[in-house]
Amino acid sequence: MSFKCKIGNSILELIAGDITVQDTEAVVNAANKALSPGGGVSGAIHRAAGLELWDECRTLGGCRTGEAKLSRGHNLKAKYVIHTVGPVYSGSKSDPEDLRDCYKNSLLLASRNKIKSVSFPSISTGIFGYPVNEASRVALKTITNFLEEHPEIDLVRMVLFTEGDYGIYKASLDKILKD
Ligand code: ADP
Repeated sequence: MSFKCKIGNSILELIAGDITVQDTEAVVNAANKALSPGGGVSGAIHRAAGLELWDECRTLGGCRTGEAKLSRGHNLKAKYVIHTVGPVYSGSKSDPEDLRDCYKNSLLLASRNKIKSVSFPSISTGIFGYPVNEASRVALKTITNFLEEHPEIDLVRMVLFTEGDYGIYKASLDKILKD
């Protein structure tokens, strides 16, 4: 399951799959504030990258909600991991602002480090409880706005872990592309 479209000069791709095997230059980790392995996508990335990733993460000084930090990819195919901490869903107006900051700051960090291709998981929609439909609109609107102004990024790949999530993201993207 996959879909590809052009945004400005860049490609935006949606796929159903596992982020730990992606061949983009960077993969984004939906991390916790301590940048410790934890569960969900973070546990999977740390398992695949090896203990050296945790060793490096311990030197990064943690990460605030909406912020992004860079590490090497260690045993992953991806050369880098961008760690960002999504909001724990509360229903307040800071949720979409914090989620937008995660995508934006991750892409800015990629751009500043000359990283041209980035894979994202669906930040905050697992353990942090953000409804997937709402989160997909924030994620895709932020990514498309960014790509329109940043042709230096060649590819952004949204990697959805289930076919259900893929369908929700695809419907949101169709709507954004029509507007
Ligand atoms: P958060 O704490 O930000 O909610 P989670 O890791 O709990 O982060 O979940 C974020 C999303 O990542 C969920 O949609 C979950 O299904 C998905 N996910 C879990 N493992 C993987 C993986 N290996 N590849 C891609 N997505 C994954």
